[in-house]
Amino acid sequence: KSGLVVGRRYESTAAASDASTPPAEKFEYQAEVSRLMDLIVNSLYSNKDVFLRELISNASDALDKLRFLSVTDPQLLKDTYDLDIRIQTDKDNGIITLTDTGIGMTHNEIVDCLGTIAQSGTAKFLKALKDSKDAGTDSNLIGQFGVGFYSAFLVCERVEVSTKSPKSDKQYVWEGEANSSSYTIREETDPAKLIPRGTRLTLHLKRDDKGFAHPEKIQKLVTNYSQFVSFPIYTWQEKG
Ligand code: ADP
Ligand code: MG
Repeated sequence: KSGLVVGRRYESTAAASDASTPPAEKFEYQAEVSRLMDLIVNSLYSNKDVFLRELISNASDALDKLRFLSVTDPQLLKDTYDLDIRIQTDKDNGIITLTDTGIGMTHNEIVDCLGTIAQSGTAKFLKALKDSKDAGTDSNLIGQFGVGFYSAFLVCERVEVSTKSPKSDKQYVWEGEANSSSYTIREETDPAKLIPRGTRLTLHLKRDDKGFAHPEKIQKLVTNYSQFVSFPIYTWQEKG
């Protein structure tokens, strides 16, 4: 084990970048997160569908947060007045893109939220996991508690979270892979990928899970699990 402080930059991948691209910073997950990720990636948990519900619920929370804060600070809406969730599927490449125009995250918020155990549900999950002696119950616990953002790794080999907070003038990209104990954060510099505000997840599906990258499949899951979300959810297939 590296013995390095969680959430602290310990390596700059400067060699991989040129003058126009700021280097990515590499961070190590909190030990509990590594454990959780390991379990999510390697468990035989069968109801992978829940990943979409978790990610849409995060998008909805981010939109709620923005709407609430904008009551006293209307300037927060100036970059776009849209408050919605857009899900684009690319079946040829097995990619789902989920974009919200919510509150987004600053660099510090990314480190605090996507690398540590923030949510109480996940903490309860880990407690229950600790108390259970039987490895076979692990996968049932995933369904029982919900594992939030990390549930993306039920179906993804790689996840990019590109996010723009109205409090920051920069957009950042968090990138994590299944079976890795570290993640990176870099500045978004590709003009084609800039968003006015909010968060865009690019979900690179595992080979066996590429079937999720179909609008009909997504619509079915939205109807089954996310019908009470109070923001519009648009779904479409990218033209091949
Ligand atoms: P929870 O939603 O219960 O807090 P998650 O694991 O689902 O736990 O998400 C962790 C945190 O990451 C959230 O609390 C939030 O701060 C941040 N986050 C996740 N997705 C988004 C998003 N789409 N927009 C803004 N922040 C997000
Ligand atoms: Mg959540």
